[in-house]
Order: sequence, then structure tokens, then C-alpha cells
Amino acid sequence: MKLRTKIVIVILQIALVPWMVGGAIAYTSAKEQIRAKTYADLDAFADIQKNRLQDTLQNKLDILHLLSTSPWVIATVHEYNARPSTTSRREMQEIIEAPGKTLGIVKTFIVANNGDVVASTDSAMLGMNVKDEEYFKLGSQADEESILKKDANGIILHYLAGPLISDGRTEGVMVVVTDAEDIVSISQDYTGLGNTGETLLVKRNSEGDALFLTPTRFNPDAALSLVVASGRLDVPAVQAVAGKEAVFANLVDYRGVSVSAATRYLPDAGWGIVVKVNQSEALAPIEKLEELFFFIIAMTGMLMAIIGISVSRSITDPIHELTLLADKVAAGSLQQEIAVVTKDEVGMLATAFNSMVLRLREAYSMLESKVSERTKELVERTQEARNSERAALNIASDLKDEEEKLAEEKAKAEALANDLKKFKLALDNASDQVYITDPEGIMLYANAAIEKVSGYKPEEAIGKKAGALWKTPMPLPYYQKLWHTIKVEKKVFLGEIQNRRKNGQLYTAMLNISPVVNAEGEVIFFVGLERDITREKEIDEAKSEFISLASHQMRTPLTSINWYTEMLLGGDAGKLTKKQADYFEAIYAAGQQMNEIIKSFLHILRLETGTLVMKPVSVDLTTIMQSILKELHLEIKKKSLHVTEHYPKKTPSLVIDQEIVRVVLQNIVSNAAKYTPEKGDLVVSVESVSKGAVFAGKTAKHESLAVSVQDTGIGIAEKDSATIFSKFFRSEDAKRWDPNGNGLGLYMTKKMVDMLGGNIWFVSEAGKGTTFHVLLPVEKKK
Ligand code: ADP
Repeated sequence: MKLRTKIVIVILQIALVPWMVGGAIAYTSAKEQIRAKTYADLDAFADIQKNRLQDTLQNKLDILHLLSTSPWVIATVHEYNARPSTTSRREMQEIIEAPGKTLGIVKTFIVANNGDVVASTDSAMLGMNVKDEEYFKLGSQADEESILKKDANGIILHYLAGPLISDGRTEGVMVVVTDAEDIVSISQDYTGLGNTGETLLVKRNSEGDALFLTPTRFNPDAALSLVVASGRLDVPAVQAVAGKEAVFANLVDYRGVSVSAATRYLPDAGWGIVVKVNQSEALAPIEKLEELFFFIIAMTGMLMAIIGISVSRSITDPIHELTLLADKVAAGSLQQEIAVVTKDEVGMLATAFNSMVLRLREAYSMLESKVSERTKELVERTQEARNSERAALNIASDLKDEEEKLAEEKAKAEALANDLKKFKLALDNASDQVYITDPEGIMLYANAAIEKVSGYKPEEAIGKKAGALWKTPMPLPYYQKLWHTIKVEKKVFLGEIQNRRKNGQLYTAMLNISPVVNAEGEVIFFVGLERDITREKEIDEAKSEFISLASHQMRTPLTSINWYTEMLLGGDAGKLTKKQADYFEAIYAAGQQMNEIIKSFLHILRLETGTLVMKPVSVDLTTIMQSILKELHLEIKKKSLHVTEHYPKKTPSLVIDQEIVRVVLQNIVSNAAKYTPEKGDLVVSVESVSKGAVFAGKTAKHESLAVSVQDTGIGIAEKDSATIFSKFFRSEDAKRWDPNGNGLGLYMTKKMVDMLGGNIWFVSEAGKGTTFHVLLPVEKKK
């Protein structure tokens, strides 16, 4: 159980137990006092009621007694009994009428011993016999008696009856009837009896049971009708008529309700008096007291609990705080301190705790610093040891690396040496001369072939400048270009060169010089390679000469053949038959074709041998194009081709070799006509293109003239486009379309355009058509 709970329980015990004991005693005594007072009040009230009723009754009986014992009345009644006369009767009448209606008297009458009413204030009663009436019987016996009786209207009347005695002899009975209101009002006076209290007036009836004489508070018809059996001793009315004068704490009344009651008895009248009140009302103060008692207990309990909790808090909170702190300290947090608020034992404990934590903190920090010192030392030592170990390991691994590297280097060097040996062997035995120079051209190495080609031994060549060695006859610009290429541009130089052998003989070589650069891009060597092509050159020249000769030789007979065929066709030798004419036509065409081939051969020969000499003159492309179309008009007409021409208003003149440009244009226009089916379209155009402008997808590098020839022919397949300008190339489609062709036209054309410094290209779609474009620079080209 928690300390706080315990403290609360103890406080509740200390505070509540004595209070409860004292309270219980006070409560019990108060309860008893209330009860006793209730009973005493009932008892006193019963006495009061008894006295009131007794007094009322006595007063009434006294009046009767005054009347019945009056000597005048007795003498008159005696006189009447002795000698009944109207006079005596009248006298009696006068006497009884004397009191009148005072004191609540309703009527008065005198009854003779035989029961006859002899005088009455109620004339109706005169002559009546009442000998059986109870009041007559009672009145004739001895003292004055009284009874309550209802009249014909149900109104309760009080009959007072007493004997009229003369000389010891009863002369008759005097009856005074009064209203019973005084008695009823006494019984109905509930003053001081609360809501349920009442006074009952009861009398024994002939059966001995208790008969209620007046109306009760809860039963207005009870008078002279309500009866409680004599056996019901638990009913106070029965006790009262039995003559008991006592207080009863717990009985049951005529309604069956629990009541507290006090009983009285009037022996003269035989009346019992009950003063009673419902037990619930009688004991209501006790219940209230009870409620108050428990309320106070509950309130006190609560108050005590609150006080207990706050007291226990004031005690346990610092302790709780202390406990929490102790837990934290135990968990290692030494930065905690408790705020000392009180000066009591808890405060002292907190102070002691704080100083303990302080000491602990000091001890701890001392321990920590020592531990960290030691740890630092240890780390340093470990680090040292580790460093030494690492150094040792590094040295070992370095040694190993070094060893490996050495072995590797050795192997590499050996391999290199081997390679070099092989390389040298290969170079030494190569048929081309190979040499290596420094960046200034001083020979560092030369292979054996150098002797074979130039006549110099390698050792003669090494250490000398290459140019000086061969006493080369090449013009200066050639050398300037060579040096620029290999030294400035650091590129390979390729070209033919003429050198002089040791014996002074000239030879032609194909020269290839490559610069070797280091990582910084500086030239460290040049490697030169020379192949002696003197012999090949001689053979080529012989070939060309032969072709040239052969072509020229063939041209003369061919010209004769053509000339004579023309004459025969012209009818110079008489009219030809149709068949003859056809055959001559074929001969003529073949001759023309042959002529073309020879022309082409000669052109190509000149182009390839570089012997084509250009004679630039001012030409007009429009005029050339128009003349070419004119030449082709027979074929165009034959195939019904539709030709469209576009020329500039004023074509800028071009300084160019007229023959070459004509061959170029003639080739592309004749191809367009050749590879276009009947009724096709040809579009020919000439236009100026300024420098930098884009023409048919190509940027003109110079001020130019452009020629385009567009056809709707068979087109050039994608796969053929790369080889179209090759020597002897003819596409499969072209071969099928026209077997007559040699595949030299475009080859020649391309070479010529290149020579003119221009550009030729085409755009084509197989089966749809082709456009050839030629771009020629306007300015004069050397
Ligand atoms: P060929 O004597 O065969 O015409 P060319 O050198 O003039 O020789 O042309 C080479 C080839 O280029 C031709 O065989 C043909 O396949 C193709 N060619 C040239 N011009 C055209 C064109 N206008 N239309 C289609 N194909 C062409």
C-alpha cells in the first residue's frame, strides 16, 4: 500500500472514529429524548383532553343536578304524582322551560316512573313513553348520568338524565338534552397534533366492544357506529375503554396504521380517551436527525479525506520527488538536485540527498577524468603500436611491390627488347626505305633498304639532314608544305617526291612522313617511309602513251567510217532500201558511240595523268545549256520528253574551261534524257548563288553558279548512291533500262567538277526521278 494511502487512512481513522462514536452516542440520546418527549407530549395532551372533557361533562351534569335537585321541581313532581292535575303539570312545564335554550340545551323533559313523558319543552314528546330508553334507565337508577345519542336526523345529542328524589323516593326522571358540539369540538381539536394526530372518544357498548362516540379525523361517519372488538388489545381504543391510562409506543389504530398513543379513562361516564399520532409523524424528527447525522458523517468523512490527502501530499510529495531523483541518480544522472522547500525532516533529507549527489558527482567526475586519462594513454599507446605495425607492414608491402615492379619492368624490358629485335629485323629487311629523324630532320636511324633505293649505306645517312642527303630537285613550296604539315599541323604528309640517288640518278618515291608526339604534344621524332615507284610510273606513262596513241589512231579511221556512213545515209551513193538504211543507221550510232568512248578515254587519261590543260575563257552557262539541249533534240523528240528551262535574266559570265564545263553538263543532261521514259519531264535550270547562301541543302563557299537537271526517270536506288561516281559503275536498273553504257560518264564528270573547284551531288528516289546539282565558283581558278 502506498504511503499516501496509509496516511489518508490513518487520518481518517483518527478523525472519524471518535467523531463517529461521539456522534452515535449523541444521536442515540437525542433519539431517546425525542422519543421520550413525543410520548410525554402525547401523555400531557391526553391529560389536557381528559380534563377538558371531564370539565365539560361535569358542567353539564351540574346544570342537570341543579335542576333535578331543585326542591321546587321535586315538590311539583311529587304533587303531580300524588294528584295529577293540569296545574301541577303546567307548573312542571314552566319549571323546565325556565332555562330556555341556554347552554346548548335542545330540550328538557320530565319522565314519570312508568316511563311516560309528563312535561317537555318539546311538545311532541308529551305523552310518549320512554321507559325502554337507556337514558331513562340510567337516570332512574342513581346519580346523574349522560349518554350520547343520534337523533332522527343523525345529529349527535347529549342526553343528561338524573332521578327526581323526594324523601328517599324516586318521583321521576329529569332529562336534559343538549347538543354534543362541545364534546365533538374537543375531540376534533387537533392543535399540537400535527397532520395525523387526533383525540378519540370511545365507550363500551352492550357487547363490551369499543364504540366510537365522535367523528374521527379520518372517518367523519365513525360517531356511534364504528366499533373495535374488545379482543383487539393492540388497538389503543380497546385499551382506553378497559380503563388503561398509559402511553403506548407502538400500536395499531382503527385504520390499521402504526401509531403512538396515550390513553385516559373517565370512570363516571365510562368513556375512554385516546390521544394518538401516526408513528411515522411521531418519529419524523428522529428520521430527520438520522439523515442529518449520516449527512454530517459523510461530509466530515469527505472533509477529513481531503484534509488527509492534502496532509499526506505535503508529506509524501517531497518524498516522492526524492524517490524519483534517487532513481535518476541510481540510473547515472548526477546533474539532478532537489529544491529544498521545507525545513522539516523531509527538507533535511533533501539537503542530505543533495549533498550526497554533489559528493557522488565529484567522485564520479574524478573517476571519469582518471578513466579518460588512462583511456587516452591506452589509445595513444595502441595508436603508436598500430603505427609501428603499419609502418612495418608498409615497408614490407613496399618491398614486395618494388620487387614485383622490378620483375615486371624486367619482363617488359625483355619483351620490348625482343619486340625491338623483331621490329629491327623486319625493318632491316623491308623493301621500302624507313628512317627516323629528330624534330630537326637529322637522321637517327635508317634501315638496310635505304642503300638499295638511294645508294647510301645506313651509317652514311645517320647524323645527316635528310633533305641535304638526297639533294632533292623538288620546288621550295613542296618543302614548305611538307614541313608545315608534319611540324606545325603535326599530321602525316603523303605525296610523291623526286630524289637523287648517291650516283646522281633521279628516282620517284611515294613519301609518307609521320610525326611522333609525346604526352605534351611535342614532336619527338619523324618516321619516314619511302617506296620507290619509279618503275610503276614508267609503266603508267607507257600505258597512257599507248592509249593516247591508240585512241588517236582509232579516231582517224572512225571519223572516216562515220563520214562515209553519213554520206550513204544522205543518199550520196544512190537511194537506199529501207533495210539498208536501218543497217547504216545502226552503224552510224555505233560509230558515234565509239567516238564518245574514245573521247571519254582520252579525257580520263588526261585527268588521271594530270595532263589535262585548262584554257579558261569567259563562258555563258545559259548558252552552253541551250546548245546541249539542241544537240539532244532528236532523242528528246523521239521520246516526247517535256523540257522546261529556267535561266537567269542575265547570266553572270564564268571564266572557265569551256570544253570541260560542256562535257560536265552534257553528261548529266544526256543521262537525264536517257534514263527517263517516254513523255517524261525534264527541268533544266541555271541560277546565281551568292556566297554563304544555301542551295539545294548545300552552303556555297564562294560566289557561284548553280545548274540543276531534274528528270522523272528510273531514279537511283539508295544502295547505289555511294558508288554512282565510281569508274565503270552502272546500276542494275540502268543496265536493264539501256544496255548501251560504259559507266565512265559520271566518274569523269565528278573528276572534272573537282578540278573546276566545284561540287556535284544528286537527290533521287528510285522509280520517281533524279535531280543532279552542280555548283561552280564564279571566280577564276588557277
Ligand atoms: P552510263 O553510261 O551507264 O550512263 P554514267 O557514268 O553516265 O554511265 O552513269 C553511271 C550510272 O549512274 C548509270 O549507269 C546509272 O545507273 C546512273 N545514272 C546516271 N544518271 C542517272 C539518271 N539521270 N537517272 C538514273 N540513273 C542515272
